[in-house]
Amino acid sequence: MDEFELIRRYFDRTTRTPGIVTGIGDDGAVLRPPPGRDQVQVIDTLVEGVHFPIETAAADIGYRVVAVNLSDVAAMGATPCWMTLALTLSRADPDWLADFSAGLFEAANEFDVDLVGGDVTRGEQVVATVQVSAEVETGGALLRSGAEVGDTVFVTGTLGDAAAGLLLLGSNESDTFLVGRFLRPSARVETGRQLVGRANAVIDVSDGLVGDLGKLLAASGVGGELEIDRLPVSDALKARFDETEQMRLALTGGDDYELCFTARPDAVEGIANVTAIGRVTDGDGLHCRKDGRIVDYASSGYRHFL
Ligand code: ADP
Ligand code: MG
Repeated sequence: MDEFELIRRYFDRTTRTPGIVTGIGDDGAVLRPPPGRDQVQVIDTLVEGVHFPIETAAADIGYRVVAVNLSDVAAMGATPCWMTLALTLSRADPDWLADFSAGLFEAANEFDVDLVGGDVTRGEQVVATVQVSAEVETGGALLRSGAEVGDTVFVTGTLGDAAAGLLLLGSNESDTFLVGRFLRPSARVETGRQLVGRANAVIDVSDGLVGDLGKLLAASGVGGELEIDRLPVSDALKARFDETEQMRLALTGGDDYELCFTARPDAVEGIANVTAIGRVTDGDGLHCRKDGRIVDYASSGYRHFL
């Protein structure tokens, strides 16, 4: 199978979104974004053995490399349109490619994104890079830097599941829900779009809540407080981990791809699946409160992961 056959078989699909003047097959894709909209570009790479375990199923790698990009799109409040794919493989295994392609297009179809180009190269390990083009109303993109003192801090979904799932993947236990949260993160694109004009600052939680919220607060030049007891955790996490471990995973576990944002307290009316977890303060740094008191999470067992 040569490179052209590989692309034709696994990646060249009928496209559905408007604006594609020329897709796969020429030297470059020609795209016509809607006039008067801002363009948002995101890119993310998954490296075998670094971002996912070596034995990860090809379909999950395909799904995940799209989903992690769509999470960045969501955090900008944008609507995804098109994507390109750069794929490095040690060999062209037809079964692997069929599964990878199926996972990739499953995520792409779920979010109405068309693959318009890419590259295939040979290398020692699997490396998958996806770049997504998205659009948002002029000036509407949601940034990290807009948090205001007195805002409430919110988060979507539940925290800590993906890190728990990754722990389980490395053990001989399993939990379909938790492992699925790692392998197939749900990009919060719809919520991101709803936050345009409502949230003051947004980030997606890829590296853990403490670190990512810390980045948002620093970018905004403000401080923040988290109410530890309010962190949303799933029943599956509660069933498998004790309370200390739940909080450690929720505060510092990565890969959840939920959105963390700040807004006026009443700005989220009608938006599903969000929880208020804290507030924006003046000063700097992030503090945690438990039972009304400031606690030093760094000295209460969480330090190891900070
Ligand atoms: P070139 O040699 O001009 O870089 P390629 O032979 O790499 O072109 O690619 C031919 C066409 O196939 C281009 O339109 C390119 O965008 C597309 N393509 C290559 N690899 C992929 C891929 N993994 N997924 C989707 N499209 C791809
Ligand atoms: Mg060329």
